[in-house]
Amino acid sequence: MENIQDIINIGKTLYNKDLTIGTSGNISVKTRDGILITASGTSLGNLKEDDIVLIDFDGNELENKKASSEKMLHVEIYKQRNEVKAIIHTHPQYLTTFACCHKTLDEPIMSENILYFEDIPLAPYAMPSSNQLVENTVKYLQNRDVVLMANHGAIAVAESLKQAYLKMETAEYYAKVTLNTKILGGAKYLSQNDIHELIKLKKSKL
Ligand code: 13P
Ligand code: ZN
Repeated sequence: MENIQDIINIGKTLYNKDLTIGTSGNISVKTRDGILITASGTSLGNLKEDDIVLIDFDGNELENKKASSEKMLHVEIYKQRNEVKAIIHTHPQYLTTFACCHKTLDEPIMSENILYFEDIPLAPYAMPSSNQLVENTVKYLQNRDVVLMANHGAIAVAESLKQAYLKMETAEYYAKVTLNTKILGGAKYLSQNDIHELIKLKKSKL
């Protein structure tokens, strides 16, 4: 089970890999005793032990610290996806660019991305930390692990913090490559048959 030190380490990696900026974003892991989540307003690249808050499975702080303003988004995802044990929400540059332009990442241009994501959908805009944001985003996470949040950022969920991190990193790379293809006049798409074969391969590995 992942702990406070794992959150601190992943925060540093997110920062060093340019996947988070300023005090944006939040990280959580599900434990037996509740959810460990970053405190509101912290810089993920420079987290201290005191910047991590234990909350219960309904979002109540079990310590005298203010948990992330997006804690209810994390709480609701853990309620709806029992296998999810870690969540990362950040505002990575390229994913956020797509989210700001309301562009879903769904072009069939890289075989790895189809295997990994199928696509990365866009959840409609709602105010950060609002109940509406929770509702809008959770809907898209029912059958996807990475979702763009319109005019805001992205969220990645997984069975471990390391996996959630890898999903965010790979999603950001997908966004970068997609944008680069526009400079060269547009990518050549994989055929429907290629896509079908990739999805079949993915399902056979589950
Ligand atoms: P917190 O610092 O409260 O976690 O908020 C950061 C954020 O990204 C809000 O969407
Ligand atoms: Zn945010």
